Amino acid sequence: MFRKILIANRGEIACRVIATARRMGIATVAVFSDADRNARHVAMADEAVHIGGATVAESYLQGSRIIAAAQATGAEAIHPGYGFLSENPGFVEAVAAAGLAFIGPTADAIRAMGLKDAAKALMEGAGVPVVPGYYGAEQGMDFLAARAAEIGWPVLIKARAGGGGKGMRLVERAEDFAEALASAQREAQAAFGDPACLIEKYVTRPRHIEIQVFGDAHGNVIHLFERDCSLQRRHQKVIEEAPAPGMTPEMRAAMGAAAVEAARAIGYRGAGTVEFIVDGSGPLRPDGFWFMEMNTRLQVEHPVSEAITGLDFVELQLRVAAGEPLPVAQEDLRIDGWAFEARLYAEDAENGFLPATGRLDLLAFPPAAEFSRAALRIDSGVRQGDEISPFYDPMIAKVIVHGPTRAIALSRLSAALGQCRVQGSITNLGFLSALAGHDGFRRGEVDTGLIARDLTALLTRPAVGPHVAAAAVLSALGFLAAPVPDDPWRGLAGWRHWPVDSLPLTLTHGTQETRWRVTPQAAGRFLIAGGAAELEVTVAARDGETIVLELAGHRKRLEVITTSRRITICDDSGCHSFDLSDPERAEDAGEGGDGITAPMPGLVTRLAAKAGQQVRKGEALIVLEAMKMEHTLTAPRDGVVAEVLAAQGDQVAHGALLLMLEAADD
Ligand code: ADP
Ligand code: ADP
Ligand code: MG
Repeated sequence: MFRKILIANRGEIACRVIATARRMGIATVAVFSDADRNARHVAMADEAVHIGGATVAESYLQGSRIIAAAQATGAEAIHPGYGFLSENPGFVEAVAAAGLAFIGPTADAIRAMGLKDAAKALMEGAGVPVVPGYYGAEQGMDFLAARAAEIGWPVLIKARAGGGGKGMRLVERAEDFAEALASAQREAQAAFGDPACLIEKYVTRPRHIEIQVFGDAHGNVIHLFERDCSLQRRHQKVIEEAPAPGMTPEMRAAMGAAAVEAARAIGYRGAGTVEFIVDGSGPLRPDGFWFMEMNTRLQVEHPVSEAITGLDFVELQLRVAAGEPLPVAQEDLRIDGWAFEARLYAEDAENGFLPATGRLDLLAFPPAAEFSRAALRIDSGVRQGDEISPFYDPMIAKVIVHGPTRAIALSRLSAALGQCRVQGSITNLGFLSALAGHDGFRRGEVDTGLIARDLTALLTRPAVGPHVAAAAVLSALGFLAAPVPDDPWRGLAGWRHWPVDSLPLTLTHGTQETRWRVTPQAAGRFLIAGGAAELEVTVAARDGETIVLELAGHRKRLEVITTSRRITICDDSGCHSFDLSDPERAEDAGEGGDGITAPMPGLVTRLAAKAGQQVRKGEALIVLEAMKMEHTLTAPRDGVVAEVLAAQGDQVAHGALLLMLEAADD
């Protein structure tokens, strides 16, 4: 076994690998960029080497610097994690040329699966069912449009070099094809340096079911059952589970055999995932699945498979890379219970899921295991106080639950999500909680369209209950916590000493503004009037941030979190934030303002308007690319472009002014 390994990655996956290496007595070396000097993976590793600037191109994609770091520290092997260089065959060859082991498959195996078009041709040859479509080299617009028409609408355009849902466009009608292809090619060029696309038949009511495989250097290949990753938004996984709802022994055997066949066809070694698109319009059928792609690495959602098999996949990776045979055979494997994983991201779900940034002023999870199997496991690469920067994937944590049945595991997921506390960045926590409670999902009726169909309901925050509202009001007036110096709430707190009957207050929750009046009664008792309600509230207990409020004989425990102008009240179903209304704010937010600003940090990939140009409301002006996707900024009204303040290729900050409009003269 290796004595020391280097992890060529960051974030939660680097921490995940370090945790298993430590358990196995293997020393670890981390690498870090300028932005990650104080990151968790650096703190966790035994030693760490600086490899360059904050952008991934200057650091985590610098293969030769990473190899030099391994040599300088005496590491014998490199674990690539996922993303970055994990599926880069040139890197694998360079690692071998430097006399180091690569903890993953051979360069040839990665190459065989690296491009979706070549992989499909290979799989077809190996007798694995593949999605019908055009996988050829010819890339002319008219030619591809003709192939799409032959395949029949709807079709899916995919970047052949694609990953992470990028470079993909669903096209339902011939007239939308040209624009969708151009946009997919642009995104593919920017993300992968390769604009080539393939066209696939779009499977309607699809489910995404993938099979985990493992191979060793002794010719053994096994599969570790399936994961259902159908809960997706824009082709990106949101909640994954294992096993798949409605899976039959026949279907599992057929999919497992096809995945093992695929791995054998390329002499696969290490951890891999064979992804299939499955007809979800009825019960699962052994002839209703088709190969989509193979990911030649450890997958983000591997913990759900670890949960149901009892194995540590990073340990298996290390043992296989060190030349050991797989320690388990297919017939030894059994499925134990059910598991889910939810991906907690810094992103603004209510606002088009734009990636968010910020310092995590508060990050607290319910008691859980980390990087190892448990009823509740939370894998995270960040700590309270860390920054979610615009340079990398905005993942905060993976919340993983395991239970004896699907229903119990899913209840555990809801409970765990309700107990996560994050402040300082916007997150998708409310969205994940709503999804975990979705009726169809609870019944196991999943398909990749579920989220898009029910998005409005999934983004509707649960109503604020009277206990939560009362806690917010009392907290805002300073009745619940001693005010801290230079706290904007302090001025209000003094009011309680005034000899007045009732105190007024206006709080904003989401878009709703409510006026309240609070009348203190005896110590710890208040009358609170707001909207149509009048509440009689008793503060029954208070201990730090935790309070117990009693309303009409009903006691509830709540947490009160205050940061600058915001009050957050949490109960065991989640959190609600309230802002003290700011009277000046309403005045300067004019209708259809003159400036177009960046709604998130990103890269300007296209400028569609020039100064002096007449534009109509809704017309595309600027295309911004951020983390995972393209965002088109459109004209808020008819007008003339007065000035363009950004250039193509600019990296712009959140809120940066990009373009000015003026009224059209007529
Ligand atoms: P999975 O491992 O299940 O396929 P994803 O596809 O969501 O999970 O993410 C993993 C892969 O997608 C990584 O290999 C990475 O290359 C790519 N990826 C995910 N998020 C991003 C991102 N924000 N930017 C670039 N690539 C990403
Ligand atoms: P990536 O490399 O970005 O992960 P995939 O080929 O794995 O790309 O596709 C990502 C997702 O897009 C799938 O999980 C599935 O939801 C959807 N998808 C892919 N191909 C099809 C198809 N032919 N029909 C319907 N949905 C598809
Ligand atoms: Mg995929």
